[in-house]
Amino acid sequence: MTSSVSSLSAQEPTLKQDGVLQDMWLKMLNILEPKVQRSQFVTWFKDTTILGRDGGKLVVGLPLPMSLHWHMEHYCGMTLTAAQECDKTIEQIVYKVDGGLKDNNARSVDILVHFPEVKKRKLPGKQEVKLAEGVVSKILNPRYSLDNFIVGGSNRLAHAACQAVANQPGGKYNPLFLYGGVGLGKTHLLQGTGNAIFRQMPKAAIVYTTSEDFTNQVVEAIRSQKMEKLRYRYRKVDVLIIDDVQFLANKERTQEEFFHTFNALYEDHKQIIISADRPPQELQLEDRLISRFERGMIADISAPDYETRLAILVEKAQEYEIFIDMQVLQFVAEHTTRSVRELEGILMQAVALYELEQRMPTIKSIAEIMRKLNKDTNLEDEDVGFEKQKKRQPTFQEVIECVSRYYSVSVTDMIGPSRVREILVPRQITMLLGKKHLRMSYVNLGEAFSGRDHTTVMNAFNKIEEKLQNDSRLLREVHAIERELGVV
Ligand code: ADP
Ligand code: MG
Repeated sequence: MTSSVSSLSAQEPTLKQDGVLQDMWLKMLNILEPKVQRSQFVTWFKDTTILGRDGGKLVVGLPLPMSLHWHMEHYCGMTLTAAQECDKTIEQIVYKVDGGLKDNNARSVDILVHFPEVKKRKLPGKQEVKLAEGVVSKILNPRYSLDNFIVGGSNRLAHAACQAVANQPGGKYNPLFLYGGVGLGKTHLLQGTGNAIFRQMPKAAIVYTTSEDFTNQVVEAIRSQKMEKLRYRYRKVDVLIIDDVQFLANKERTQEEFFHTFNALYEDHKQIIISADRPPQELQLEDRLISRFERGMIADISAPDYETRLAILVEKAQEYEIFIDMQVLQFVAEHTTRSVRELEGILMQAVALYELEQRMPTIKSIAEIMRKLNKDTNLEDEDVGFEKQKKRQPTFQEVIECVSRYYSVSVTDMIGPSRVREILVPRQITMLLGKKHLRMSYVNLGEAFSGRDHTTVMNAFNKIEEKLQNDSRLLREVHAIERELGVV
């Protein structure tokens, strides 16, 4: 292991920066920057710096306990490699948490100045691909897959049907008709199925189009008197995916063309996948088209339940590589019930907040976003305020009781002389939390633990730091207790 964990209380002087270390940090950032996604780089390295060095140990300061966890999981290895590229004699990265680093003046290197964002030139949007002579499709978005679609009671059937179609296009489930309200995942499933078929059959002509696009093609073909050509082209398609067919309502000529295309492909055992916002019989389309839709598999998607919403948020947060506290995700899942797109919109705003202002999303900031996005979201002030209450600093008694509850050991045993591991670890954790969050000195802590000597406390403190460095489970336990106490 290459890192160790420590925390400095505000009273302790931070190691003084010197020019050499500052240069080294800048060099290290130059090495790290291309390896880390921009938003992550700004978030996690902005208030980070070298605090000092002690022989082969390089002391890296972090602003928050949360950064410690994140750095240890994600950047520890690459930080050491970067340090070693600058100075071969570095053997270890030692992390220290120092709240003072959040202060602008504490930064040795201002990332936003040294590493300004380079705006990428937007490539002209290539919306379509040519699959064969004259056959075009909208580009399938690789972000949509059947694997990253979260399955719950509300969409299980639809997902299973898509999976079956992906395994055997043109088989039993033809056509596949998916319907459901806005933002519930129809396009995701349609494109995810297209992507899955494409992976297995890279040569297949998979056309994904919306009913508007299809209408435009028909209109253009009529205008240029090339209807035959259009028909002929669509007959070459292996998989036809048409999104939002409700928009074919009142477009008789397009419906007619679609009907012929549908029949030709269907008879050829080519897969057809359709989505709409309502079931076939409620569509305002020609009866013969509706009866074709009813021939195959029909699956609905409804609004996801709380657990599914939460699972989607966790998945999306991971996809966007943004770390959001579980409590915040739960809050969003509880208060957003309508569509998944809405959930995602909130998450994207959180990402923006993260990137632009380097603010970690909190329940309060998320609630603000939700209010702005949706004026009538039913957010009570207490919902938003409860985070404030939780941030209250606990007393030592509360800390020790919380640890005792968490590990099911008695407070008396923790304060007493026992040296069995079951007692020792909770005791050491209490000391760590007392120091870190209550800013208790070793002497105060010694007194709280039946008059132990301050060097004994110091040893215990070092022991737990060492353990945390090698034991990610223990680290998670400490985080869980901290959350319980409302200090993170
Ligand atoms: P629709 O086409 O039904 O209006 P979309 O497919 O565009 O909805 O979904 C809106 C957003 O929500 C997309 O970004 C999609 O990835 C996401 N989404 C919807 N349902 C799920 C799910 N079950 N798992 C993961 N993401 C989902
Ligand atoms: Mg859609």
